[in-house]
Amino acid sequence: MKCIFCGHSETKVIDSRESEDVTRRRRECLKCEKRFTTYENAESLQIYIIKKDGRRELFSKEKLKKGISRACEKLPIPLEKINNIVNKIESKLRTSEDNEIQSKDLGEEVAKQLKQLDKVAYIRFASVYREFADIEDFKKEIQGLLKKDR
Ligand SMILES: [Zn+2]
Repeated sequence: MKCIFCGHSETKVIDSRESEDVTRRRRECLKCEKRFTTYENAESLQIYIIKKDGRRELFSKEKLKKGISRACEKLPIPLEKINNIVNKIESKLRTSEDNEIQSKDLGEEVAKQLKQLDKVAYIRFASVYREFADIEDFKKEIQGLLKKDR
């Protein structure tokens, strides 16, 4: 979202109010510090995920939740915690300046959240997401995790 005064591309959201189909956002320019309001409808809030091959896919909260749930399968993790992560990531995406994110950045974000939640879930997720090139990479990641425990 560009500043309407100076055209700078970085602004921060200082207030956000949602009504039926329009979100009103109070923004402040990070450069000239002037404030302005934007009205964004649901459509402009759609977020695209850019895949490795360059394809764009509409962000789906359901899909994100599925991916995280899969990593948490059979682990003693309450559903509430999974929902928290999903909501946290969604709101981060929605308040970001871009309406698109690289799938690997989204993956890193999920991995970061899972790391704090549960190590097994994190490793499961990361092994799919990062496609560890070989078993050595995988071992390094696990050893790194174990070290932090001591
Ligand atoms: Zn400005």
